[in-house]
Amino acid sequence: MVEEARARRPGQVVMAELDLLLMGPPGAGKGTQGRLLGEALGVPWVSSGDLLRHAIEDGSALGDQARHFTARGELVPDRVIVGLMSGRLEARDARGGFIADGYPRTVPQAEALAAALDALGRRLTAALAILLPDGEVVDRLAGRRTCPECGRVYHLKHEPPARAQLCDVDGVGLIQREDDSPATIRRRLAVYHQDSEPLIAHYSERGLLREVDGTGPPEVVAERLHAAAASGA
Ligand code: ADP
Ligand code: AMP
Repeated sequence: MVEEARARRPGQVVMAELDLLLMGPPGAGKGTQGRLLGEALGVPWVSSGDLLRHAIEDGSALGDQARHFTARGELVPDRVIVGLMSGRLEARDARGGFIADGYPRTVPQAEALAAALDALGRRLTAALAILLPDGEVVDRLAGRRTCPECGRVYHLKHEPPARAQLCDVDGVGLIQREDDSPATIRRRLAVYHQDSEPLIAHYSERGLLREVDGTGPPEVVAERLHAAAASGA
């Protein structure tokens, strides 16, 4: 049982929310695992990258601001992503908890998230970091294909769809993400090491970090993550 009863005020015992972060380099498997873990734990999986891509597709003002950064593999400004994610994580379906995938990605974002949770009388359960060497990141991102309809992720070699280039769920033709080109993959990795890797120390210092080996088949990584989530509750 991952959830636990937690005393908030003397005499008041409530079920703790399950507020989890999924961190790690681009291509580490956050989306693949976030979907599975969300289903297993019964909390929504919320990907900041997916939210941004939807905003861009919808042609919203926020999407227009973000497009410039995502296309080049740069981080969108903190104030843009903090506003977007804070609203999403406070939504009704996340009242019992959430799995935030790809957020926070900078220390200021982590501080904004902690403040937002504090205002709700909540605190993070754990920060799960999926570790993967850069060489494997490049291989995974170069072979990634995505369904533009349902967002399901495949890999040409490791997780191919049943019918070539077609989504198993809805039969729609798979696409390659614009930012999965070789040059942009290199830029995203550099940005990860510079801006996001410091979060490993940040959460370690707060006793929240759970590191998980991201190598091996998805089902093996899923078992490791589930065990790490349980140990973080
Ligand atoms: P992220 O969300 O961290 O960017 P994804 O979940 O989109 O990463 O995974 C990146 C690519 O690697 C996808 O093509 C996915 O199918 C593939 N992948 C994910 N997990 C594994 C794994 N354990 N072994 C091999 N390939 C994987
Ligand atoms: P992802 O789908 O997680 O690989 O994210 C795709 C892109 O969205 C990133 O390369 C960034 O440009 C942007 N992005 C996603 N999450 C964040 C974040 N927390 N902070 C800043 N930019 C982000």
